[in-house]
Amino acid sequence: MTTIAERLQAVRASIYDALSNAGRQPEQAVLLAVSKAHPATAIRAAFAAGQNAFGENYLQEALDKQAELTDLNIEWHFIGPIQSNKTQPIAQHFAWVHGVDRLKIAERLNAARPAHLSPLQICIQLNISSEASKSGVLPHEVDALADAIAKLPHLRLRGLMAIPAPTTDIELQRRQFRMVRLAYEALRNRGLELDTLSMGMSEDFSSAIAEGATIVRIGSAIFGTRPTHDH
Ligand SMILES: *Cc1c(COP(=O)(O)O)cnc(C)c1O
Repeated sequence: MTTIAERLQAVRASIYDALSNAGRQPEQAVLLAVSKAHPATAIRAAFAAGQNAFGENYLQEALDKQAELTDLNIEWHFIGPIQSNKTQPIAQHFAWVHGVDRLKIAERLNAARPAHLSPLQICIQLNISSEASKSGVLPHEVDALADAIAKLPHLRLRGLMAIPAPTTDIELQRRQFRMVRLAYEALRNRGLELDTLSMGMSEDFSSAIAEGATIVRIGSAIFGTRPTHDH
């Protein structure tokens, strides 16, 4: 049995290799450990091995784990689908939200972000394969959404997030991530100060890094396969 610490170290080494193969500097892509469906003890083990940013998909599960881990200085990222009746606890209990795809959600997060906290860090989810996924804003709608979110005072728009259709075809992985990067560069060229491309998971993060990912969201490669889960 390999431990969480060993798998974390192996993932970090692969991220380093992918950056170096892409001619990028170490630290230009950071690891978000996706701990959904794994217990607080697994997060504690990864934290002890030097990981401090964790991503969770399901609000109640995340709040339960946060309550068990208040002694650790964890940066929590919400990466799941966001229902509008959950925006208040999300705005209160997370540092980042990766899957924003509607202005209404952004406005609710903005209104609920407590004044004593720094702005909530936001990535807009881009839908680059509309037939494969319902979530994410379509490419032709991203400019308007980004401009509107950039004006909200309690949010800070950092960039784009995407979940491309899973495939083992490396060329197809690259092509999908490239579309996200081009959309990101187009937003930057329009003057938005963005620094984050959140893309790449356990099966495709090397391709994502080759295409410019700055945050890779990795779960099973660190924590093992997830037990099936009902929400
Ligand atoms: C579950 C999940 C991940 C991690 O997926 P793995 O394949 O386990 O690495 C990353 N991003 C999002 C949005 C997820 O829901």
